Formats: sequence, C-alpha cells, structure tokens
Amino acid sequence: MGDKIRAVAAYEILDSRGNPTVAVCVELEDGSVGLARVPAGASTGRHEAVELRDGGRRYGGKGVRQACDHIARIIAPVVVGQSASDQAGLDDTLIGLDGEDNKSHLGANTLLGVSMAVAHAAAVSRGVPLYRHLGGQAARILPVPMLNVLNGGVHADNNVDIQEFMLVPWGAPSFAEAVRMASETFMALKARLKAQGLSTAVGDEGGFAPNLGADREGLDLLMAAMEDAGVKPERDMAIALDPAATEFYREGQYHLGRRALSAGQLIDWYEELVGAYPIVSLEDGLAEDDWEGWQALCHRLGHKVQLVGDDLFVTNPARIRRGLQEHSANAVLIKLNQIGTVTETLAAVRLAQQAGWRTVISHRSGETEDTTIADLAVAVNTGQIKTGSVTRSERVAKYNRLLMMAADDPGLQYAGRAAFA
Ligand code: PGA
Ligand code: ZN
Repeated sequence: MGDKIRAVAAYEILDSRGNPTVAVCVELEDGSVGLARVPAGASTGRHEAVELRDGGRRYGGKGVRQACDHIARIIAPVVVGQSASDQAGLDDTLIGLDGEDNKSHLGANTLLGVSMAVAHAAAVSRGVPLYRHLGGQAARILPVPMLNVLNGGVHADNNVDIQEFMLVPWGAPSFAEAVRMASETFMALKARLKAQGLSTAVGDEGGFAPNLGADREGLDLLMAAMEDAGVKPERDMAIALDPAATEFYREGQYHLGRRALSAGQLIDWYEELVGAYPIVSLEDGLAEDDWEGWQALCHRLGHKVQLVGDDLFVTNPARIRRGLQEHSANAVLIKLNQIGTVTETLAAVRLAQQAGWRTVISHRSGETEDTTIADLAVAVNTGQIKTGSVTRSERVAKYNRLLMMAADDPGLQYAGRAAFA
C-alpha cells in the first residue's frame, strides 16, 4: 500500500503574532506529502486541551522545541508504517501515546500537527481535495463567513465590552458575492472611522479597534457601513457578536465598564440588542462555567438567535453532551486545537449536528497560512465559518481557499440563510 507513512518531520515556525508554533510534514511511501501548521488562542477556555510550551527564557517561554522533539522521538517511530487513509486509527494511536484526557503529556498542539498533516497527505495520495477526503460525496456546502471587523474587550483599548463584532453576509447568492459584500462593507467602515478621526489600525484577527464610547456605537457603525456599501442590513447581511464573557466574569458577576451585572441582567441587555439590531448569532454570551446562566440565556433567546458555546464547550464531546442535556445553547464553535485531533473534532461536529445544533468552524487569534479549517467546514457541511476579517493574509488565506474551491467545484452550494434556519 502506497499510503503508508514513510516519514514525519516537525518544525518550530512562527504564528501571526510572532509566537512559535508547530508545523508538521508527513511523507507517504508513494511520495505524497502533507503539511500542517497549528494555530494558537489568546482568550483560551480553561477546559481546552493543553498546549505544550517549553517555558524558560527563549521566546518568552512559548517555544515548541519539546513538542517537535516529541514528534521526532515518540510519535514518528510509532506512526511510520501506519496507513494515512485510516485517520481514526492514526488519531487513536496519538491519543494512546499521550494517555491523558486533556492531552497534557505530549500536548494538543503536538498531536494536532501530526493529525492534520496525515489528513493532508492522505488526500494528496488519493488525488482528491482535503474536503472531499474528509467529507466524501456528502461534502457540498460552502459556509457563510462571519467576519470579525470591529474589536473591543481585552483585544482593544476602548470602552467596548464585546470582543468581536462580525459581519454575516448570509443573503449573498454565492460565497464569492458574500466575500465581495463583506470586503466592500469593511472598506466603508474604514472610511467612516477615518472620517471620524478614529484609528483604522487592525488587531490580531484583522478587525478595527477604534476608541469607541460604547458597544452600541460599534453596532451603529456596522449598520452605517452596510448602508454606505449598498448592502441591506438583515436582508443581505446580519451581525454576529462574540462578547467572550468569560473575560469579564469575576466572582459571580459580569463586569461591563463600571457596572457589575448578574447573568439575568446581562441577558436583558442582550435581548435589547437583539431587538434593536439584526443580530443572528451570539457566541460566549456568558462565562465558561456559568451553566445555570447559559440555561437561562437559551430559554430567553434560544428561539430568536443562535447561541454558540466556545469556551463553554471547547469542542469537547463530554461538555457538548452536558450542554445538550441541559439545553445550554443551540450551537457549538469548533476549534481543532481545543480538542487535539481531526477525528475527535469530526466527532464533536457530528454529535452537535445529530442533535440539531449548528456548528461553526473557527480559526484562533494566533494563526498561520494553514487553510485546513476551510476544507473542514466544507467537509462536514457546517454552513458557517469564522476566520477573521478581510485583511491579514493568515485570515484571508482561508477565504481564498474557499473562493478557489467554489470556482473549481460547481457542485458546492453556498449555505446562505439556511445555515441559520
Ligand atoms: P482565541 O479567540 O483564539 O484567542 O481564543 C477567539 C474566540 O474567542 O473566538
Ligand atoms: Zn469565542
């Protein structure tokens, strides 16, 4: 069989913030090569799988030499000779080598690099795109992009509590049109900020972080930018928010500016915003361990708006299962490195989908030119992807991959509004 793994090489490279991360190259006996690069979060959930960092002075402790060393000395000798087409078997081997529930022995970043690179190599060996390899003939939906164009919270030095304001071009007739609408709205937003003497410097995910007075000002700016761009709010484009509430939760209360709110009061505020703006999705509206609050949030707003658990679920089937039982949310954010292998990520998506929940494939704030998540979104028909603004190449790389898939494969359909139905 030509699809047997011949060699595995690991590299310490840089991510978009200038921090080290893991790259892995897998070569098969038939000469096929797969390359993958691992992303890294900043507002990481407490329950995520563990990212292995070297510590010490080098790179401020963020080096990944140990991870690379684990790949060369512990993982490679075991996986060489295994079939790359058997992703589940390969990932089982990785999980077994680590041996810990939270991947703390070898590191989730260590395992994920190998897991993704093997998937890429297997796709090359079969002569099919990665989305086809992972999703088979069922892969047919191009996701609605959620573009993070305005930032507050810990990502910005302003009076805005919400971390991410996203454009959702759900009314576009195609993926390419969705990207065009988003880009034109982004440019209109930039022009508005400039005209008001506000900063147009972009943050980690390519969004602006102007010094605004309040969250509503951010929402008003998005609405105005849409009008300027000739995009009709609600019909053509909606808004998604990620307050990343864990970041402002302390001792049972949510600290917004100088106010301290209970979960109930914060939900009141969200309800107000959802009533006043075309908001279709609210991610991490409450904190990662506030299960009771999430239940109340879902009860109050679950019929009107998509409620996405990111830090709450951390792509972990056990936590998603609890959420299903308790009706905590109606959607899950999916990040490969929160759980650590491709197979476990696919299982998390399947679990949510089978329960009728929506799934959103997501980048991390620290990214690379890797485009695996673009293929993953199509492979499992999530219908939604969140991968930053229309600037910064590590963000645009994912949209570009989708634009090229859309052009090459006329069988792929843009999800549009149906992704939120
Ligand atoms: P992170 O942030 O990648 O820094 O965790 C993104 C998010 O909260 O969705
Ligand atoms: Zn989030």
